[in-house]
Amino acid sequence: MSTYLYNHLPLSAALSRLAAGGVSRVEIFGGEYTHWRPDEDPEQLRALVVERRLQVTGFHLPKEEIVLASEPKYRDALDRLKRGLRVASAVGASSAVLHAGYEVADSRYGARERLVEAVAELAAAADREHLDLLLENLPRFGPAVFGHSADELLSLVEQVASPRVGICFDTGHALVNGHDPSESLKRLFPLVKSIHLSDNHGPKPDNPFASDEHLAPGDGVLDWDAFFETLGALGYSGELVLEPGAQANMSEEVVLARSIAAVESHWRRLARKGTRLL
Ligand SMILES: [Zn+2]
Repeated sequence: MSTYLYNHLPLSAALSRLAAGGVSRVEIFGGEYTHWRPDEDPEQLRALVVERRLQVTGFHLPKEEIVLASEPKYRDALDRLKRGLRVASAVGASSAVLHAGYEVADSRYGARERLVEAVAELAAAADREHLDLLLENLPRFGPAVFGHSADELLSLVEQVASPRVGICFDTGHALVNGHDPSESLKRLFPLVKSIHLSDNHGPKPDNPFASDEHLAPGDGVLDWDAFFETLGALGYSGELVLEPGAQANMSEEVVLARSIAAVESHWRRLARKGTRLL
């Protein structure tokens, strides 16, 4: 379960609410709107986790501009991401999730080369911390997002060529891009080491930013039967991370309960059919 659901709260409160809701394994969301900042002490965060007897499976790195930034800003962004990797390691995560950055189709600025260089440098830093670095497929909000297609991610992973680099597949992001999440997952497998599960109502061309609704699985239009069938058929054995967000029409506790119930029902259905998942 991701702390994203409680992103409006301080991290200590978010972790407490998740623990109170029966969650034992968490991914810490250190991204935009975050309740975690890179200048915070990793040991303090570790203490928050240990006190609540939580296991941290992954750490979502903050969103940083590592492609089109000027040289000093680029180095600062990389430094903050490396601090994030140290925190991920301190709290016992086995992987860190990275948003790769901005569209790099315009090669005049050497943007593509810079992205490869940045991810390679972060992969080396992740390796020193015994972490996998997972690139997430992103929603295509305007022209400025890199990694919205499977092909882009695959070519970047190939160019960086580090055994530490894999993919975090986000079901909701695939859906808002108008892709079939099951087909996208098949394209990216076996590089996928973690999956973010959330639902939405598909692309909203008039307001793309509102399309990534982060609903509980089953509360949008994603075909979860097909998606879980695909997981079973592929023999997926990586992390499954529920990543719903706070909703206006129900409490976070209801969103949490609905998310867990949805995944459990698909799990049971697969088990009845003899498919072992995880
Ligand atoms: Zn995600």
